[in-house]
Amino acid sequence: CGVFGVYNDPDAAAHVALGLHALQHRGQEAAGIVSFDGTQFHAAKGPGHVSENFRSDQLMTELKGRTAIGHVRYSTSGGAVMRNIQPLFAEFAFGGLAIAHNGNLTNALTLRETLVNRGCLFQSTSDTEVIIHLIAISICSSVEERIIDALRQVQGAYSIVALTNTALIGVRDPMGIRPLVLGHLDGAYLLASETCALDIIGAEFVRDIEPGELVVITEAGVTSQRPFAVQPSHFCVFEYIYFARPDSVVEGRSVYDVRKAIGRELARESNVEADVVVPVPDSGVPSALGYAAEAGLPFEYGIIRNHYVGRTFIQPTDKTRNLGVKRKHNPNRSQLEGKRVVLVDDSIVRGTTSTKIVEMVRQAGAVEVHMRISSPPTTYPCFYGIDTPEREKLLAANYTLEDMARLLGVDSLAFVSLEGLYRAAGCPVRDPHVPQFCDACFSGSYPIANKDRALASAAR
Ligand code: 5GP
Ligand code: SF4
Ligand code: MG
Repeated sequence: CGVFGVYNDPDAAAHVALGLHALQHRGQEAAGIVSFDGTQFHAAKGPGHVSENFRSDQLMTELKGRTAIGHVRYSTSGGAVMRNIQPLFAEFAFGGLAIAHNGNLTNALTLRETLVNRGCLFQSTSDTEVIIHLIAISICSSVEERIIDALRQVQGAYSIVALTNTALIGVRDPMGIRPLVLGHLDGAYLLASETCALDIIGAEFVRDIEPGELVVITEAGVTSQRPFAVQPSHFCVFEYIYFARPDSVVEGRSVYDVRKAIGRELARESNVEADVVVPVPDSGVPSALGYAAEAGLPFEYGIIRNHYVGRTFIQPTDKTRNLGVKRKHNPNRSQLEGKRVVLVDDSIVRGTTSTKIVEMVRQAGAVEVHMRISSPPTTYPCFYGIDTPEREKLLAANYTLEDMARLLGVDSLAFVSLEGLYRAAGCPVRDPHVPQFCDACFSGSYPIANKDRALASAAR
């Protein structure tokens, strides 16, 4: 998901809509905005893209106020139904509270069971609603303290932007799994999942919100606190590989530069005789550029992507996902015919994309296809906000490298090593005991235990 917040801006909602538009790659299922005009909260949300949901007149006349937050949704927990669309909003004794969450909680079901037994009435199936109820029943006096009290009970990944009658609040979980940045524009403060959302409105990047940091933005300015026990940080390495936009700078590193560096690592680790390097667009482009540069091979667009189709992976069912691949890519015969092709993509999850693409490239006349993947084999599900499926559906969790190559129909297949990935992300040596990033979907080394899962398997 993507989150965005604005404090003290005459065009708050319009700026949120623009920010969300820049974060659209983080979720295409639904979008929502909540604003506050000093007296009242206003909300608008709906399924689909940002541009389908907010008309410019509505942003001005309905979503009034100088503060606003927004969310683009990619469902990893809770179904794709209207009630789950964020920001979630609730009225408390202390006033209103809107909350937008990126990430996934790992003890939401466990907490929910307790809360339901205490009489809490849940309105959605979203894990985020647990936070609302924990805030509601908290005995702390101020909103900030209640939020802290609630978050001390939840486990998992969260980058949260919240709006109250008096403040814009931003918080990142103690491990900093999902990104969140602070920006500034003409007296207004902004919170955004990625810097590309600051760029779009011409705002200046101030800094990353630190793992475990909570910022409260009010008339008095920005105050920061560290309410949680300190833990080693574990930023999601998959944000660098695929999820974040390449023009964003995350945790001090350009996503584009990291992707190119991964491509160079790949070329060093698994170079092969070939004529041309072809990316699977768009996600394979920067690493293919790095690979081509390192291998001294030409980079060509051998596959053209239709830009009117969104990310195929972010489709709720297998059927639409399958259709999506064909609608999205077409071979560019002039660059493939008679060539030995190095095909570069960011990841193989189920293998749906790669199988179709390889078939397409061969039909267009490629004589050899060597697949190079800019992530290690995806062998474990993600519990922290990326929709990686269960192990049964993960190609690399069920087949050897040779079997995968055969299934995909390629002459050779190689993934970047975990070590190569870390080097590319600016970390010369991966600490095997406490990895500097979260890399659980590649290593199985989960930084946060999944309480809900343990509960579910105990019930089985
Ligand atoms: P597959 O077709 O192998 O299931 O998925 C791989 C493709 O989906 C890759 O081209 C990649 O760009 C994209 N992708 C891979 N992993 C993820 C993920 O966890 N989340 C999203 N949204 N997209 C992914
Ligand atoms: Fe990111 Fe993978 Fe960790 Fe999920 S499991 S947070 S996708 S690195
Ligand atoms: Mg892709």
